[in-house]
Amino acid sequence: MCGKPLPRRAQSSLNALKHRSRVLGGKILPGLISLALICFALTIINPVRQNLLAAIGWDESNALPINTATATITTFEVRETNDSLSTPTVAVAPPSPTTHAVAESSDKSLLEVHVIDVGQGDSILIRTPEGKTALIDGGYDNGRALAYLQAEGVTRIDVMVASHPHADHIGGLVEVLTALSVGEVWTSGATHTTGTYERFLDAIIAAKVPYYEARRGDAIPLGSLNLNILHSDPNASELNNTSVVLRLAYGRISFLFTGDAEHAAEYEMLATVRDQLSATVLKVAHHGSYTSSSPEFLAAVQPAVAIYSAGRDNTYGHPHPGTIQALRRIGATVYGTDEHGTIVITTDGKNYHVQTEYDRPPIQAPPTDTWHDSISLIPGSNLSIADRDCSDFTTQAEAQAFFLANGGPGRDPHRLDGDNDGIACERLP
Ligand SMILES: [Zn+2]
Ligand SMILES: [Zn+2]
Repeated sequence: MCGKPLPRRAQSSLNALKHRSRVLGGKILPGLISLALICFALTIINPVRQNLLAAIGWDESNALPINTATATITTFEVRETNDSLSTPTVAVAPPSPTTHAVAESSDKSLLEVHVIDVGQGDSILIRTPEGKTALIDGGYDNGRALAYLQAEGVTRIDVMVASHPHADHIGGLVEVLTALSVGEVWTSGATHTTGTYERFLDAIIAAKVPYYEARRGDAIPLGSLNLNILHSDPNASELNNTSVVLRLAYGRISFLFTGDAEHAAEYEMLATVRDQLSATVLKVAHHGSYTSSSPEFLAAVQPAVAIYSAGRDNTYGHPHPGTIQALRRIGATVYGTDEHGTIVITTDGKNYHVQTEYDRPPIQAPPTDTWHDSISLIPGSNLSIADRDCSDFTTQAEAQAFFLANGGPGRDPHRLDGDNDGIACERLP
């Protein structure tokens, strides 16, 4: 009763990854490159999820372990239809601004997805009905993800996923690897030349955690559920496009976690897994930047709820107003960690609830028709106010000049210096 093979167990290749990281950083002669990932085909037991789902019934009386006096809860009931992820038929959203509230405990039949407010960065906790936990990214190394997990009583992460090696995604994972028990770590296999990335590898090695590299089509078991890999490309030219993209389905409710995947990765997914992209809840890619969430991709996902993670009053311009506009245009209710704090979605597989930590005034409506204009701007044209990334430059010197002219170390609104060492876009020639 073996399922499809799990990929690329590469525990012993971590030192090779470190080696590659140094080589890419120019610290070792290129001729010394000898990276050999040791791959083992594993098999997994394919869970019979239907039995579990059939056993789960929605019970209003014990539905929510949530303090309704201090949280904003939105309840959605999903219309029963054949396999389609239909739009919510009821939305009750009593606006009650609050200071802090989190789910107090886990109901046995409920799946929880926590989009944690880690400031500028991404971190998502998943708790399954069986008590399994997954953590996708950990924000910067500011201690916030770990503190949240500890406040939630999480002592073990069964599956840790690093979507891609940028510091606002893996920095906090180092802290979690150091403080908590971690079952396994998954990445795309993409490497980076930063100290943060090296500390991430060191933490995996020190904690002796099994390390795997995901490929499209893989399914990471999480109890009786699966995290299905829709994208993972270690060779993408832009690190954001190496992002591991995962889909999690629980009954009729599904989630799509996109890391920082940008248009190139979105188009690849549209070409390869378009029929798997639909999701009730979308974790909006790249903090709501204009470089992601193309209209074609959003049309394929058709989320009812869209959640981005971004620091309050961040200097990167995240989220882009055009992204918010595009999400609303397709009918999604938009939440952001900058506006709502930590956002927790709880579902029994039929209905789902959105709980926000607090509310801020709604995002200012942007001028119309800016969205398509901003998409067509990308390479080489006037991007003076738009977010830039390293793929916008041909040489490191060019990126460095732009970096210094736009704030330099300590400010870096375009986040070209992910490891904060004063050098922008180190992997450019
Ligand atoms: Zn990134
Ligand atoms: Zn990011």
